[in-house]
Amino acid sequence: MNEQNTPIEKIVIIGSGPAGWTAAIYAARANLSPVVYEGIPKQNPSLVLPGGQLMLTTEVDNFPGYPEGVEGPQLMNDIKKQALRFETRIKSLDVDTCDFTQRPFTLNVSDGSVVKAHCVIIATGATANWIGLDNEMRLARSGGGVSACAVCDGALPVFRDQPLAIVGGGDSAMEEASYLTKFASKVYVIHRRDEFRASKIMAQRVLDNPKCVPVWNSVVTDVLGEDKISGLQLKDTKTGEESTLDVKGLFVAIGHTPATKFLDPEQILLDDKGYIQMPVPHQSMTSIEGVFVAGDCADSLYRQAITAAGMGCKSAIDAERWLADQGIH
Ligand SMILES: Cc1cc2nc3c(=O)[nH]c(=O)nc-3n(C[C@H](O)[C@H](O)[C@H](O)COP(=O)(O)OP(=O)(O)OC[C@H]3O[C@@H](n4cnc5c(N)ncnc54)[C@H](O)[C@@H]3O)c2cc1C
Repeated sequence: MNEQNTPIEKIVIIGSGPAGWTAAIYAARANLSPVVYEGIPKQNPSLVLPGGQLMLTTEVDNFPGYPEGVEGPQLMNDIKKQALRFETRIKSLDVDTCDFTQRPFTLNVSDGSVVKAHCVIIATGATANWIGLDNEMRLARSGGGVSACAVCDGALPVFRDQPLAIVGGGDSAMEEASYLTKFASKVYVIHRRDEFRASKIMAQRVLDNPKCVPVWNSVVTDVLGEDKISGLQLKDTKTGEESTLDVKGLFVAIGHTPATKFLDPEQILLDDKGYIQMPVPHQSMTSIEGVFVAGDCADSLYRQAITAAGMGCKSAIDAERWLADQGIH
């Protein structure tokens, strides 16, 4: 089929985390027949996967509707099933590039195909940055006490009254360290330098907290333990000396990377970290009319499944109203 004959989709959703699937449920129920590009299954588990970040976690205790909690992959399967019930179409492919300069928009897909769309919802998420150690990823995936989200996992019974460690030195790490002191017996804050790079006030809050113990000039070189974390192997960045630290949980807080590299920053407004900007407060429209955004790729603040799902809902409602204004139903 040549490009001229390519059918025009009413709405394409890029991404299959809580934001993308929720947008699909709303768009499908509004008879917009959405297509979801869910991403290609990846070998490297630290990269984004179809189903998103929750495919990397075990217990999710804070998503409403699951009084006993739910495993991350189960939750994502349930949301996906709900979207499929309303006839969402799925492509297990990545969108590689987008041309938003002409309408309908053109999306180039990883199998070489081209898709045209009147309206696009971007819901590609943000990946937590990990240290990059094999045992870290193994224990993160198996629920062995390694996490990249203190707000999500810090309250789990397994971490109560236990010594925990957090890696990082920025504002997020400080916030997460303070949060963990609600549950932990002690929180070691491991940082590669001898001073946190967080704002003074946030750093001071941690330094003043009797439960927080800074571990300066140190990097984690291994995560110890078979089924559950039992400790960390550390290396002094100045002397090269190795040591071990007994902890029952590791929280990695070294930032997130929004999955927006496939977008052209000359076409769509991103902030200096790559998060997609929403110029109109409380709305999901991006700097391009007809392109909407949902979830962690536009949200460096909350980064929760429920907030991503809420944004997915808003984006589909905004998209439907915008399409109706264009006479597309
Ligand atoms: C270890 C861990 C534990 C967590 N635990 C909890 C918890 O208990 N409770 C909670 O509320 N939150 C938790 N979170 C946070 C939660 O996972 C995220 O806030 C949520 O998944 C964000 O949803 P999203 O839809 O915006 O993005 P994501 O879930 O990241 O999904 C993004 C999707 O986009 C796809 N994608 C990316 N690029 C492309 C492309 N170019 N083309 C096609 N598809 C693409 C990916 O394959 C993926 O499916 C946790 C996060 C981590 C890392």
